[in-house]
Amino acid sequence: MKEFVATPNKTKEIINKYSFVFQKKFGQNFLIDTHVINKIIRSAEITKDDVVVEIGPGIGSLTQHLAEHAGQVLCIEIDKALIPILETDTLKDYDNVRIINQDVLKVDLKKIIDEDYNGKKIKVVANLPYYITTPIIMGLFEGGVPLDRIIVMIQKEVADRMQANPGTKDYGALSLAVQYYSEPEIVANVPPNCFIPRPKVSSAVIQLRKREDYGIKVTDEKFMFQIIRASFNQRRKTLVNGIKNSSLNIEKEKFLEVLKALDIKENIRGEALSLEQFAAIANTLKG
Ligand code: SAM
Repeated sequence: MKEFVATPNKTKEIINKYSFVFQKKFGQNFLIDTHVINKIIRSAEITKDDVVVEIGPGIGSLTQHLAEHAGQVLCIEIDKALIPILETDTLKDYDNVRIINQDVLKVDLKKIIDEDYNGKKIKVVANLPYYITTPIIMGLFEGGVPLDRIIVMIQKEVADRMQANPGTKDYGALSLAVQYYSEPEIVANVPPNCFIPRPKVSSAVIQLRKREDYGIKVTDEKFMFQIIRASFNQRRKTLVNGIKNSSLNIEKEKFLEVLKALDIKENIRGEALSLEQFAAIANTLKG
């Protein structure tokens, strides 16, 4: 019978066997709780028809379970010390796993999926290195990778921000960016004792289902996100002042006219505006 590594004893055994040294700079916290892993697999609805991309397999704790359920698993791991552990030990019995030893932020994932996996929509499943959560997720959304959904373990605080609604303290540019591209849903809260070593923060598993049609028509996405960022750069200022103090070069009078035309109050703050309203502001300014 295959022996799974996502237990405290087996993880410690592998760490000792290979004298593996945890690299803080790579955000290494390995999962040791199969309940959490099962929850991830179930939420992701993984079947043999799926191509799953795992970012940062570590010693293969989640990968083994992904390989059991998915058709193919593509792993991208930056730490070369982990590659022999995966190849000769924990993943050696799986012929549906491919490992790339590279920095995920430097991999052309779209090219790999288009060329080697017939451009099939992937599911990205990972216990992410927390120091690069946002660039990884935004890179997946903006990089044109064929994507079904993302199911990732991230810092709880960041997950809350991704799912936040207008008018709440967690709402900001990240909520709007994530919600523009996907429908976020926190599927589990995960305490530090589910990992070795224990992270200092609480974690959550969030599912981001990619929107087929963004539902919102934006003539210039980049411009809309510039407005969003400008309005949250100075959270306590009104939207009008946030825009005035930004490098966007929009005349105050013109901006006030746009707000009036859209029936939005002059003294509104960015945190009270929905994605639809930001889109309408951007479209009207451009129009
Ligand atoms: N998936 C494993 C698990 O759940 O036990 C490990 C998760 S650990 C939180 C994050 C993993 O991402 C580590 O294996 C780390 O080496 C890897 N990693 C960190 N930065 C990376 C990068 N830029 N590109 C690819 N992998 C990275």
